[in-house]
Amino acid sequence: MITVTLITGDGIGPEIADAARRCVDATNPGIEWELAEAGVDVMAKTGNPLPQATIDSIKKNGVGLKAPITTPVGTGFRSINVFLRQELELYACLRPCKSYKGVRSRYSDIDLVIVRENTEDLYAGIEFEKGKDDTTELINWINKHSKRKIGNDSGISIKPISVKATEKIVRFAFEYARKYGRKKVTSVHKANIMKYTDGLWLETSREIAKNYSDIEFEDRIVDNMCMQLIQKPELYDVLVLPNLYGDILSDLCAGLVGGLGVAPGANIGDKGAIFEATHGSAPKYTGQNKVNPCALILSGVLLLQHLGKMAEAKKLENAVAAIIAQGKDVTYDMKADRNDPTAVGTSQMADAIIKKIKI
Ligand code: NAD
Repeated sequence: MITVTLITGDGIGPEIADAARRCVDATNPGIEWELAEAGVDVMAKTGNPLPQATIDSIKKNGVGLKAPITTPVGTGFRSINVFLRQELELYACLRPCKSYKGVRSRYSDIDLVIVRENTEDLYAGIEFEKGKDDTTELINWINKHSKRKIGNDSGISIKPISVKATEKIVRFAFEYARKYGRKKVTSVHKANIMKYTDGLWLETSREIAKNYSDIEFEDRIVDNMCMQLIQKPELYDVLVLPNLYGDILSDLCAGLVGGLGVAPGANIGDKGAIFEATHGSAPKYTGQNKVNPCALILSGVLLLQHLGKMAEAKKLENAVAAIIAQGKDVTYDMKADRNDPTAVGTSQMADAIIKKIKI
């Protein structure tokens, strides 16, 4: 048996966690779940949104399936998602974007994978607030050492991009491509403008690519990449991006394949991996057995793949695809009319997927 931590989250989290767990179990993967709490519900009970037991469980098991967690605005309650990524050094964010027949979208036949660097760039959290002493000191230093001047009424966010982190993520993208039989890796950047950060990213990408002659390599400037993805997404396969571009293009690509309901994800590092839906905790639907469980179930597919359970992963993905394609036992958001009374609940959609797996 493999022990996997199941973080049930809050909002719609517990409902979709239950649906995903049941669907994964139906493939008989030999997984034993260790339940762990995080989010506003456990915060209300214990005063701590991320109990140490939850962190210990993931560290011990090295792998977790995580339902969404609310990040309340303006409470000083730090994003648990960000904390977990940092604590476990989950440096790679994986977002497969695949068209499933039956999901309404402007595009069909898309099968892209976004590999986003998770630790650096403008997301590193190194920021200086307008008017603070440190900020003034920094501005004075920059104005002394740079030809370009910064006004004293500026706020500043720092964009670090290192060789080490870039090597790691680009290598991850190539290894992923090799493991999953993908043909091409595209490195995305703005090296023409940001020569010392994105330039370093591009140069490092090229160096790493030399070790993978079996996989095609190319690069694209991020603005052109956006246009290409809208015009000819079929030309792309695995995209590797620095943190900020990765964040934006993940959503762009989720939009290409029909949105949040079917967008799975994973955050992966050397010490562990957490699989989770791209969407959030949709608090307004809490406890209604209404929302679409597919994104977390498809995250379960990624989990199975990560564990080397390829046949089980395929079985689960095929069952999800079949139920979506039939369009009968699906949640409201997958019906042509969102008020369609034949829409089923979260748990019933999971039941239909399980039935399909068992056939
Ligand atoms: P959200 O993804 O929860 O909701 C966006 C919209 O999509 C809403 O209309 C929602 O009802 C709908 N939606 C989301 N998931 C759905 C599903 N499975 N089926 C059908 N409809 C679905 O985003 P938000 O409202 O911006 O965020 C809510 C909370 O979730 C916030 O506190 C945010 O910080 C948190 N969040 C958590 C994660 C995570 O845990 N990984 C990710 C994103 C947002």
